[in-house]
Amino acid sequence: RDIFRPQRQNSRGLNLADLELLEQCRQDLAELSLQTWDAAPLVPGCRVAGAALAIFSPFERTALVGNVVVCDAQTVDRALANAEQAFVDWRLCPVETRAACLHKAADLLEQHRLKLVSLCMREGGRTLRDALAEIREAVDLCRYYAACALEQFDQPLRLPGPTGEDNRLRQYGRGVFVCISPWNFPVAIFVGQIAAALVSGNSVIAKPALQTSLTAMLCVRLLHEAGFPEQVLQFLPGEGNQIGGLLLSDPRVAGVAFTGSSSTAQLINRQLAERPGAIATLIAETGGQNVMIADSSAHEEQLVADVLQSTFNSAGQRCSALRVLFLPEQTADKIIARLIGAMRLLRVGAPLETTTDVGPVIDRRALAALFAHIDYLQDHAKLLYQLALDDSLKNGNFFPPTLAEIPGLSLLKQEIFGPILHVVRYSGDDPKPVVDAINATGYGLTLGLHTRLNDTVQYVQRHARVGNVYVNRNMIGAVVGAQPFGGMGLSGTGPKAGGPHYLQRFTTEQTQSVNI
Ligand code: GLU
Repeated sequence: RDIFRPQRQNSRGLNLADLELLEQCRQDLAELSLQTWDAAPLVPGCRVAGAALAIFSPFERTALVGNVVVCDAQTVDRALANAEQAFVDWRLCPVETRAACLHKAADLLEQHRLKLVSLCMREGGRTLRDALAEIREAVDLCRYYAACALEQFDQPLRLPGPTGEDNRLRQYGRGVFVCISPWNFPVAIFVGQIAAALVSGNSVIAKPALQTSLTAMLCVRLLHEAGFPEQVLQFLPGEGNQIGGLLLSDPRVAGVAFTGSSSTAQLINRQLAERPGAIATLIAETGGQNVMIADSSAHEEQLVADVLQSTFNSAGQRCSALRVLFLPEQTADKIIARLIGAMRLLRVGAPLETTTDVGPVIDRRALAALFAHIDYLQDHAKLLYQLALDDSLKNGNFFPPTLAEIPGLSLLKQEIFGPILHVVRYSGDDPKPVVDAINATGYGLTLGLHTRLNDTVQYVQRHARVGNVYVNRNMIGAVVGAQPFGGMGLSGTGPKAGGPHYLQRFTTEQTQSVNI
């Protein structure tokens, strides 16, 4: 079928090969790192009060990044009332206007790129490369959704009128949409969900992960500057388990866009189901137990490079990241030796270097969970390698990149969100038992495959119940408009972010039949 390519321009990004530009960028970031930031609820009609919570950097736990005032029950209630009222007009606001605001937002995100990069790094623990890529993704998502909205919602769909009627199908926003986002992509996922909901005609209450409230606040300010009214887009920082329940039990909520863990998505689903009133929509993008399968025809050097990239980029804190590598008995020892050799060269730490491979994990809790997993592996598996970390990193939330061999996928009871790679040996080159094991986990997000056998590619594509299959390449960093992203089963409801169908679920349809 035809290529779907809505009219838009890609983000320019920064050319890191330009050393002068890079040096300037580093100097600006060093200056920005002296600044502290504030976040607080943005809810018209509410006075912000309450004690502020200090946010420290994952790179350096004593470095203050800023303070956040979290919201209380009254603020939540007021935000819902505002959002419901604002929806009345926003629903009828022409799609050109909504799309123009998104284009303006994209321009502003680019203009303020370095502030956002600085916050992503200091607050979110992102490396320089990751942070830059993330801003670019946010910009692309804004422009892509603006273009999709114009193409899909500008005119109603004309339908046949066999009985002489004029039949049309028109799409409208659903109502108040709550967007709940994670800390691992504090700009791209936060902005992406909101952008989709707003351009589809919903009023939005944005609830970011507490850990990255400061970054989220800057994004919301830029979206307001771009023209989205303050009642149409409100901001509620706070702990999910405190304000989540208040929001999700309220009948005024028409839909929820959520990115985070599978268990939280299930909780949200239950909360929405138990409320009185309209049946709300849930768009959930959750975790994975992502596997890469290599067979004996795989190109070994390329495999090792792609495994490293897929596992350790963003310190493994991507839901798309590789967790378990299946290697054939014949070549497993050789590939494991190559992998260890390559892991020895991973650079951990240094925030302002473009050569940093692995940054910190988000907080002490994440760190503790990873160490607990290593204890579990010591009892149930074989630790093959762990990189020794420099003493200078001890004040940050750094976790050593680790390689372990496990007997099978069923050993892993939950998603391990960090820089740990598990290896499983399988016999022969038969992908069937591996695909069966993947399907049996119930997760279905990303799957990598390294093979030169076309039959294997086809078998895996047809039988693996996963959202994104990547062949002979890494399995992270889905590109907006080219690789729509999202899973199935325990990994999410769809539709896919950055894809042509994403906006549809944010809308509701009206059939307009007129007897002319
Ligand atoms: N879209 C990202 C990727 O393809 C992952 C998003 C996430 O971690 O939620 O790597």
